[in-house]
Amino acid sequence: MGKEILTRCGYRCDLCLAYKENIENDDKRQLLSDGWFKFFGFRIEVDKIYCEGCISSDCLTANLIDTGCPVRPCVIDHGYEDCSQCDDFICEKLEERAVRLENIQEKFQEKIKRNEYHHFIKPYENVNRLNEQIKSHGKYSRMFNERIEPTENSMRKFIGESHIVELWDRLITAIESNYNLDKCMKFGGKNYGWELQYKKGKKTIISIHPERKAFTILFTFGGKELESFELIKDQVSKLTLDLVNSTKQYHDGKWIWLRVTEDVPFNDVLILL
Ligand code: SF4
Ligand code: SF4
Repeated sequence: MGKEILTRCGYRCDLCLAYKENIENDDKRQLLSDGWFKFFGFRIEVDKIYCEGCISSDCLTANLIDTGCPVRPCVIDHGYEDCSQCDDFICEKLEERAVRLENIQEKFQEKIKRNEYHHFIKPYENVNRLNEQIKSHGKYSRMFNERIEPTENSMRKFIGESHIVELWDRLITAIESNYNLDKCMKFGGKNYGWELQYKKGKKTIISIHPERKAFTILFTFGGKELESFELIKDQVSKLTLDLVNSTKQYHDGKWIWLRVTEDVPFNDVLILL
């Protein structure tokens, strides 16, 4: 399979032999049925093994194996992509679906073979995987899952913190009432995640990245915008002035990343628009 498909609880559908595309490519369901029984103690008959993955766009009606999973509805309800974005990680619900290699190894006398690990444990080894996500995404996780296309409302829900959502709304209102720009959702790659873009023709003027309890705005300042900024720079806070001054200048201008949190004077954002 190609790209990683991460579930709400941190499993990997792309590695799972029950995933529909893997069955279509190379049907190993008998092997999987035996492996699940050996390592997890449950038996599912081969003809009942078929899963469309729990992050498919119609995830509420998709054909899933684990229909009683308590994690998926909880993550969806909170507006997250997966449990790594939750303040309650690891909760009791997630513990019900938690898979740790060391716990499984403890139960077996002999060492787990490499191909057994690969087929039956690695796809579901979610605790390590989610901890890695937390480490690499830091405090302000973004909407990084390309397969879960957000709406503006789901972006607001993802941010979560009501005070920050109010600032998000003020920003959107300010942009849309002052400028005639086109708006679109874009996935900016695995390092940037989903963003709301405002464009003039092909040129992106502002991109807004929703984050947990924050959002980050990317202002693209060309020569003209930098000249205008010189005229109003006394009006912004020292924090924002330092940010603009310290941002590297390229031949076509500066890319200014401004994160809006509780601590950033929001008026600066409106001045920069
Ligand atoms: S069983 Fe779980 S990991 Fe496997 S395809 Fe279904 S949702 Fe994905
Ligand atoms: S409460 Fe538990 S199951 Fe729900 S999103 Fe948080 S960590 Fe996941």
